Amino acid sequence: MRPSLLNPLFAEIESLPGVGPRLAKLFQRLAGSRVVDLCWHLPSGLVDRRYRPTVAEAEAGRIATLTLTVEQHLPGRSSRQPYRVRARDETGFIELVYFHARGDWLAKLLPVGERRVVSGRVEHFGGRPQMAHPDYVTKPEENDLPAVEAVYPLTAGLQPKVVWKAAQAAVARAPDLPEWQDPAWHRRQGWSSWLESLKAAHAPREEAELSKLAPARARLAYDELLANQLALALVRRRQRQSRGRSIRGDGRLARRIVEALPFALTGSQRLALDEIRADMAEPTKMLRLLQGDVGSGKTVVALLAMLNAVECGSQAALMAPTEILARQHLATIQPLAAAAGIEVVLLTGREKGKTRAGILARLADGRAPLAVGTHALFQDEVAFRDLALAVVDEQHRFGVQQRLQLSSKSAASDVLVMTATPIPRTLELTAYGDMDVSRLTEKPAGRKPVDTRAIPLERLEQVIEAAGRAMAAGGKVFWVCPLVEESEVSDQAAAEERFRVLEQRFPGRVALVHGRLKGAEKDAAMAAFGEGPADILVATTVIEVGVDVPAATVMVIEQAERFGLAQLHQLRGRIGRGEKPGTCLLLYRGPLGETARERLQVLRETDDGFRIAEKDLELRGAGELLGTRQSGLPQFRLADIAVHGELLAVARDDVGLILERDPELAGERGQALRVLLYLFERDQAIRYLRSG
Ligand code: ADP
Ligand code: MG
Repeated sequence: MRPSLLNPLFAEIESLPGVGPRLAKLFQRLAGSRVVDLCWHLPSGLVDRRYRPTVAEAEAGRIATLTLTVEQHLPGRSSRQPYRVRARDETGFIELVYFHARGDWLAKLLPVGERRVVSGRVEHFGGRPQMAHPDYVTKPEENDLPAVEAVYPLTAGLQPKVVWKAAQAAVARAPDLPEWQDPAWHRRQGWSSWLESLKAAHAPREEAELSKLAPARARLAYDELLANQLALALVRRRQRQSRGRSIRGDGRLARRIVEALPFALTGSQRLALDEIRADMAEPTKMLRLLQGDVGSGKTVVALLAMLNAVECGSQAALMAPTEILARQHLATIQPLAAAAGIEVVLLTGREKGKTRAGILARLADGRAPLAVGTHALFQDEVAFRDLALAVVDEQHRFGVQQRLQLSSKSAASDVLVMTATPIPRTLELTAYGDMDVSRLTEKPAGRKPVDTRAIPLERLEQVIEAAGRAMAAGGKVFWVCPLVEESEVSDQAAAEERFRVLEQRFPGRVALVHGRLKGAEKDAAMAAFGEGPADILVATTVIEVGVDVPAATVMVIEQAERFGLAQLHQLRGRIGRGEKPGTCLLLYRGPLGETARERLQVLRETDDGFRIAEKDLELRGAGELLGTRQSGLPQFRLADIAVHGELLAVARDDVGLILERDPELAGERGQALRVLLYLFERDQAIRYLRSG
């Protein structure tokens, strides 16, 4: 149960004064539906009203606070003309200009002959100073003008002042909370309490205080990271404690496969396998991430790990995020497994009726030792006789939540997660802090670097010609169409349009695949491209994470500037796998901004997925790095991994000490840390404590 202390923060936004249902809806879009969401909604700027010049001194374009005497009201002669109020100080006149204002209201606000403090942006119009719609008009004796005003990120329909007021009201609700930070660390940083920091973050007085590294913001960010790391550590500890089983294959099947491989395993593949086998041999549950750049050869490693389970008479399953990928894995694994005399079954949403029943029966009685499929594998109706290892491909499509779900299929089975997304170390900690990591750092020998070029869309014709030349030389071409976030429909339209254009040029040699095709249609398109007559595959990003077509030598990516670098890198990894070197053409729609240009440049300069990911993080920030929607990465409200990477490392170490000293979070600081977990809604982890 959430401590009642936090209740005011988790109240609905509508409980704030002046926020009714209409505003609540807008706030929900802006920040969230609860008071705490507004607390996390930090100012993005400030208006400094401390500049108090005379009228003569007032610089154009600056926010100024003037003390004026009202001289004269000049209503507009028609309703289209503005209403003007002439006012002055001892140095000169200024006009206060109002559009669509009511005269009686203005007469009351600015009575002729009286003094008023007026604050707003000064402009010069035909050499004369004026101020349109002052932000504040107050009486000098009232003195209630904010000297510095926080400015918040807005959404359509919400006025700055409304957001400001609501945010201030939200902060005013915030309770004082017990200190959960390590006292020595906290002192060294010179930070204030949580509440003081929250207040300070909402009341910046200088630009510098808006920085993510300013003390108040850094403290809040650290708190969030601490909650994240603590929750992950608790999940991880739980995984370790839960009973696993010791799997020690004798290597006889694996050996047969290694012998059948047309290549030797790389050093990192062998090392990763050793780590995985050692982990599986432990009586605890394995939860391990296998990370390796595209083409680094994860599939073989996974297969050999799976055989480790089969050698012990158990089963293993490999789950892919899409059907195409599941089939691709099957195509890779099946012939190898056959070399070891092992049967592999495929289970996706498409296996129906008798076929499906047959597969389910074989999984249930253990006749099928190896299964490949989509998430269909982990639905309720699927029962394994004895699942010892579950491999999940392309983890970033799933999340921590799914990971927990997955391990419930067979409580004791080991879990190996594969990802091709090169995640910077810092991000890895936030998303996979609960896992051990094996990395494939070497590429298999014989990979040729891909020639990467950025080309403006206007030169499409040349690109089509280049594709034609590659095809004449026996190569195949991937053609990826614009990624339009939020809208699969327009993705499809763009892909169909490009398909038409290319089909006209190369009749009968173009295939099209997008997310809305039926399974069989997708297969047909992929087959036509893989072994059939099609030499160009026009696709939305469904090919992003996997298909292996060795004859592919050209990758065209339209509107490349809209993709994440990591995605572009993955797409590029699809070519140049065969004998011939590859070419990657990044088509962009100009003019490119500074950042976009720099990003495409990175891809041209390096083929190192980790460097690319680090650079992407630097250029774009964590939120966008992997395409937030499907990233499965935690969304931080206050922390920014690109900026707070060091704090994250400290938080992780801190958590190590915390759980060493007070494993059940029972002491005074432990209790405070529980509050922290609730504050950042990581309460699921609290259930893993003895007195949760
Ligand atoms: P990933 O899944 O990491 O992107 P794959 O497992 O699909 O990579 O492997 C890519 C290609 O490299 C496959 O065709 C595979 O057969 C091949 N491959 C894997 N390991 C090696 C190796 N050690 N030497 C040469 N080729 C390899
Ligand atoms: Mg793969």
